[in-house]
Amino acid sequence: MKNMKFLASTIIAATALSAMAAIPTESPNNYHAPIAIERQWRNYHPGKIDFKITTPEAEGAKIYSAIITDPETYITENARRVIQTLYFSPADSIPDINVIHYVVRDFDGISYKSGGGDNVRIDYSTNWIEKSFNDNDTIKLDYETRGVIYHELTHAFQLSPKGCGSYDGKSPYWSFIEGTADAVRVACGCFQQDFASKDRPRGGNWMSGYRTTGYFLYWLSLNKDKDFIRKFNRTALEVIPWSWDEAMYHILGRDEANSVANLWDEYMAAIGDENDKQKSTKK
Ligand SMILES: [Zn+2]
Repeated sequence: MKNMKFLASTIIAATALSAMAAIPTESPNNYHAPIAIERQWRNYHPGKIDFKITTPEAEGAKIYSAIITDPETYITENARRVIQTLYFSPADSIPDINVIHYVVRDFDGISYKSGGGDNVRIDYSTNWIEKSFNDNDTIKLDYETRGVIYHELTHAFQLSPKGCGSYDGKSPYWSFIEGTADAVRVACGCFQQDFASKDRPRGGNWMSGYRTTGYFLYWLSLNKDKDFIRKFNRTALEVIPWSWDEAMYHILGRDEANSVANLWDEYMAAIGDENDKQKSTKK
């Protein structure tokens, strides 16, 4: 792993490319410029950013520092993008985060959020940074890093549904939490916004969580209600106990066509996934 010659050339490449990153002249297929921050969120304070690199000797740490030169601003602005995707206005009941500890360090994995309440910690793996930069593509690394941060920051700012289980990998609660995080990532453009893309897993159902649920929520925002993701987040406060069906009826109207199973079928048919569909009796 410790190949100093490779390391040196990587850092030089990172530095040389970082000047170009802001205005790519030739975009990779999946490149998506960071979404604009709406005026009402431009001064929104998402919390103090406590940024640390705890394993500076890791190659991924050096790559990160070369490419993201002002991490506090980078994290703050991406937090504003997440919050504007989840909420209508700064007057909404948005979790009031005091400090976001953001730690870049050497560990196996990608990224995860820990802590809770007003004190949140997000760890980001230098191994993953290194892997995402294996072809010296600064834009690709920025795209991946932003995508990961959108997902983790959603966990910091999203609302939590009540009375629908716990974070167990299978409950409605879990599918809400992980589905919303990837819906925000798609809506912010850091998974491809094309249902034919490889980014979208085929089949599954609304309880599958992550991208499977995330693309479904994004599709609902394109086809049923442009504020769907915001309204879906808010059902955590307005639908108690929370369930998929009641959340859908609350947002789209109490009509059998709006049961989650019927909406899922409509979604699968619309994007041409009928044959991959897993029948599920879970709600
Ligand atoms: Zn997550």
